[in-house]
Amino acid sequence: MKVVDLRSDTITKPTPEMRRAMADAEVGDDVFGEDPTVNRLEDMAADLLGKEAALFVSSGTMGNLVSLLTQCGRGDEVILGDQSHIFFYEQGGLSALGGIHPRTVRNQSDGTMHPDEIESAIRSDNIHFPRTRLIALENTHNRCNGNPLSSSYLQNIKDLAQQHRLKIHIDGARIFHAAAALDKPVKELVSMADSVTFCLSKGLCAPVGSVVCGSKDFIAKARRTRKVLGGGMRQAGVLAAAGIVAVQRMINRLSEDHLNARKLAEGLASFEDLAVDLEHVRTNIVFFQIARNDLTPAELAEKLKMEGVLLLPTGPRQLRAVTHYYTGKGDIDYTLEAFGKVLA
Ligand SMILES: *Cc1c(COP(=O)(O)O)cnc(C)c1O
Repeated sequence: MKVVDLRSDTITKPTPEMRRAMADAEVGDDVFGEDPTVNRLEDMAADLLGKEAALFVSSGTMGNLVSLLTQCGRGDEVILGDQSHIFFYEQGGLSALGGIHPRTVRNQSDGTMHPDEIESAIRSDNIHFPRTRLIALENTHNRCNGNPLSSSYLQNIKDLAQQHRLKIHIDGARIFHAAAALDKPVKELVSMADSVTFCLSKGLCAPVGSVVCGSKDFIAKARRTRKVLGGGMRQAGVLAAAGIVAVQRMINRLSEDHLNARKLAEGLASFEDLAVDLEHVRTNIVFFQIARNDLTPAELAEKLKMEGVLLLPTGPRQLRAVTHYYTGKGDIDYTLEAFGKVLA
């Protein structure tokens, strides 16, 4: 049976072109700085984001951790969203490994934190308080409907950060999705960030890896942090080669994923038993709720699986679908037909 896998864009396998690039990659010892393919990916990534330098890391989680551990010391405080990936899904690594204190601010349904709420979370100089050091943003915001943060919002946060001498980190796991959805150059969306990470292994289809970008000085320090975390890889060019293809081929097509997600969301909204917040479906992530009591998300996911559609239950009433490179147009119709059968 045909299977349409919408659990996540992380399930995307490397394309044949990536496999070839991996097989042919020129490599060297990257801890010595001698892997030409890793160096090339890092240069490309820095250029693309308008930063001085970049660092290839094994995952988005490592990228965020390396960034925060490099920018903050023990007892420093980071302001971040209560729905953010860093707070929710990264084992509290910033505290566990860095002694960094997380200060959560409520995320609104569009992924923003209200600037007034951020401002009131910033600590004054007082011997009782930790020192606020950094504001962490997430763009697009995974748990908040995959919503992109707009340039004007980012500008507000930049002003706030400057006023209080705070740094900014952007978890840009899907920053290119934000750029596509907003029709803005990605550089504009990260210009205010002291550090920014993006994932090669999600919508961009590479098998492994993320990239951290920032100033030369920051990246030199981040390289040390990566090493102490055990993230110094050797002939990593075989992985970076796929990342180069990802950056060259996969960024410009992301709006296709957004159109598919939109079509899926509208189709789901037409079922009486489901509720979708259509206003917030702007990228490749679709959250929806079950509007009846006799069906749990796990049960619905199980029934859909029998019809060849995979989704992720994400809450007591909620499921998530994510579109990606391997979601064809026919797949959305196939998925909606499966819903029709299961909900009939
Ligand atoms: C997936 C994701 C990460 C972490 O990436 P991994 O490669 O899975 O460690 C970080 N932030 C966001 C917003 C993500 O969606």
